[in-house]
Amino acid sequence: MDIKRANSRSTKPAPDTNFTGQVLQDPVLVGVAPSRMRATNVTFLPGGRTAWHAHPVGQTLYCVTGIGRVQLEGEQVQELHPGDTACIPPDTRHWHGSAPDRMFTHLAMSETSDTGEGTAWFEKVSDEDYNKTPEAIS
Ligand code: MN
Repeated sequence: MDIKRANSRSTKPAPDTNFTGQVLQDPVLVGVAPSRMRATNVTFLPGGRTAWHAHPVGQTLYCVTGIGRVQLEGEQVQELHPGDTACIPPDTRHWHGSAPDRMFTHLAMSETSDTGEGTAWFEKVSDEDYNKTPEAIS
């Protein structure tokens, strides 16, 4: 068994090219073939969010702490709370991040495609899109 010790890996700032605001990434798992799983704990400070992007095999976001937001292109912004799991379909443009006045941490889980293709990145999320009122939770 291979136990990846927490103190063997460091927290890294997410790259400015694909994120807005302050975002930190803690690696959890980079799967070794035949696994294609990749898991990262991501912490967004208030206002922090990804750029628009898409995952070839989709993505699962498990919300750990704080209050977050997620939006699939063409749909309303959704608010995320601890314990929520958001399932992002394959090849679907979306973004995720903190609520404007709250920090947020999620465990992001995804897989590469059969051909090794990973996340496709697009333009940053505008303040106008980011600040839209989320859909009310029923
Ligand atoms: Mn995503």
